Amino acid sequence: MKARFLLVFVTFFGFAQNHSHSGVNPIKFPNIEGYLTLSTDLHIHSVFSDGNVWPTIRVQEALMDNLDAIALTEHLEYQPHLADIPHPDRNRAYELALEEAKDHDLLIIPGSEITRSAPVGHNNALFLADSNPLLQDQAQDAFDQAKKQDAFVFWNHPSWSAQKKDGNPELDDFQKKQIKQKKLHGIEVINFGAYAEESLSIALEEDLTIMATSDVHDLIEWDYANKGLQRPVTLVFTKERSIASLKEALFAKRTVAAYNDLLVGREEFLLPLLKASIEIEVDGYVADTKILKITLTNHCSSDLLLENVSAFTFYENSPVFNLEAGTQKTLQIKTIDRISEVNLSFKALGAYTAPKTHPTISFTLNTKE
Ligand code: ZN
Repeated sequence: MKARFLLVFVTFFGFAQNHSHSGVNPIKFPNIEGYLTLSTDLHIHSVFSDGNVWPTIRVQEALMDNLDAIALTEHLEYQPHLADIPHPDRNRAYELALEEAKDHDLLIIPGSEITRSAPVGHNNALFLADSNPLLQDQAQDAFDQAKKQDAFVFWNHPSWSAQKKDGNPELDDFQKKQIKQKKLHGIEVINFGAYAEESLSIALEEDLTIMATSDVHDLIEWDYANKGLQRPVTLVFTKERSIASLKEALFAKRTVAAYNDLLVGREEFLLPLLKASIEIEVDGYVADTKILKITLTNHCSSDLLLENVSAFTFYENSPVFNLEAGTQKTLQIKTIDRISEVNLSFKALGAYTAPKTHPTISFTLNTKE
């Protein structure tokens, strides 16, 4: 009887510890040297502002997407469901998400959205101890409160056509002042479906953290999965899997913005991410030819569009090819002679380190000759 009870207990406990809710198309990126790669969505809404789902659903969706961290960033000032869901506490969505996530391996970051018309626009403050003091009449007072709580603040969708008719983000004196006073630290270059090259330019010129977020208001399934898409995520390169480490990494600008086959980030993080995502195996020379066969494996959940820019050309493949997420591809390379070492370089056409600038990844292969 005792043994049986123990068995049941172990089975239940083991299940509770290891169970996974990963969906059919989980978001997956390898770690890079020296850092863990955490997939995060740090701009999400629930019924506690203008979203249409309860906070618990956001946790469940994040688990299905295999995310490491999320933030429910309710508009502090825009509360269209308040008559139906009265609540005096702007931390409530965070608390409900935290409760739902407690038996799962998902970090919940406390945060809020400071919501104004242009030129201030919308800004998310993360790692808040208390959201309520940020509810202020003046935008500057809200930013000052965020600073007081040592929050990480980023500018949401600066290219949003509802606030900027031409879709071209522009730094206003307000942002310049916040950046100078270290009250604005990041910028969304991808929000929902929109990638703004101009926002990337601002990130690089002003030395801001590069971000991508879903800004989801309805179901992830409805807005993304059902269309064969994955939500935008900010990949954050952290020393540990903790909220403190995530905060340190965001302030240190160790990020890549990812949205399906689009990857945007500083070269020092984008290059190692691409290199860690692609594994190359040498199959050897084909019969008595001077044609080398290799197999590429894509270990991440993004398709990688690559162009061969090596000294050697391909035998049977197009110089531009799509290395689909989670799949393998065989290439045949004309190396002129049978050589012991081959250097290959690929330009990643879906990846950007600056507007219109692609990173090039290089590999040195031992051909076993
Ligand atoms: Zn928002």
